[in-house]
Amino acid sequence: MSRNNDPIKIGIVGVGKIVRDQHLPTLAKDKDYRLTAAASRHGKVDGIPNFPTVEAMLEAVPELEAVSLCMPPQFRYDAARTALAAKKHVFLEKPPGATVSEVEDLKTLAAANDVSLFASWHSRYAPAVEAARAFLGSAKIKSAAIVWKEDVRRWHPNQEWIWAPGGFGVFDPGINALSIATHILPAMFITSAVLDFPENRASPVAAHVTFRTSDGLSVTMELDWLQTGPQSWDIVAETDKGQMVLSGGGSKLAVDGKVVHDEPEAEYPMLYKRFAEIVRAGTSDVDLAPLQHVADAFMLGKRNVVEAFFD
Ligand code: NAP
Repeated sequence: MSRNNDPIKIGIVGVGKIVRDQHLPTLAKDKDYRLTAAASRHGKVDGIPNFPTVEAMLEAVPELEAVSLCMPPQFRYDAARTALAAKKHVFLEKPPGATVSEVEDLKTLAAANDVSLFASWHSRYAPAVEAARAFLGSAKIKSAAIVWKEDVRRWHPNQEWIWAPGGFGVFDPGINALSIATHILPAMFITSAVLDFPENRASPVAAHVTFRTSDGLSVTMELDWLQTGPQSWDIVAETDKGQMVLSGGGSKLAVDGKVVHDEPEAEYPMLYKRFAEIVRAGTSDVDLAPLQHVADAFMLGKRNVVEAFFD
């Protein structure tokens, strides 16, 4: 099963915004893969066979070795089960599922079928994240704050699924922040949360969350989906070695105002490199910490009803 160095024959499922923006351009350049087929109800990929469902694709193209599942999280579990049961390696877009338990189930199924499962967290592969992790690993952290504020109308126009149950609302971008925070900060847990739900929506438009670590370190998280003008995707930590600011969604690192790391982003090439690595090594990579924090925020969070949201 592609545990040699031949290109991995991969199919893509759920052809929408992120497939066109990132997966197709990345796969076109990556010699580790051959994009062999696509499955989507409406979307099509030029130059390869297209099918309406994952089942039809797997039946018609048995040589497929892997699939990338890029539909919204609420609709991913059945497709993942079908692919894993057919002994295909599976790449899950973020968030890996709508619940923690369903992804645990997929992990078990992947192991039983001896195939790889990858819960991809693209923001974790932003260029300055490893440098931030190294800096924080060498410093004593006094406090940390996550500030993720963006304009939903600009980034998610007319995406109804994102406001539906299981679409996560503002935690759809917020989980990107958490995928970085859980990689660079000590293990932490939520102590309080207030979630602002527009009166006409099933998911929150803003969230105010407090975490602590077992050592009592305080971490706050502010998520807001109504920020126009400059967008903020920052993690700030006060440390004994100065103030660390990881900004631009993990792309730029500064300490006490001095930029120490700023490189062009290559998140999706890195994600596919990691997927090829685990396929060839015969392992899985499924870290559920970011998803667990979102689940905890919904479990512990106070629900605050705010003004209706219209696109
Ligand atoms: P999208 O364009 O709204 O959806 C992707 C595709 O999924 C749709 O075009 C649709 O294709 C299929 N789909 C939608 N509803 C479905 C349903 N009920 N059942 C089966 N398939 C369905 O969304 P997206 O922005 O690409 O996001 C998809 C995933 O990628 C999300 O988990 C998101 O968090 C993640 N992501 C998005 C971005 C971004 O910038 N947009 C960035 C990183 C990660 P068909 O109608 O052809 O089936």
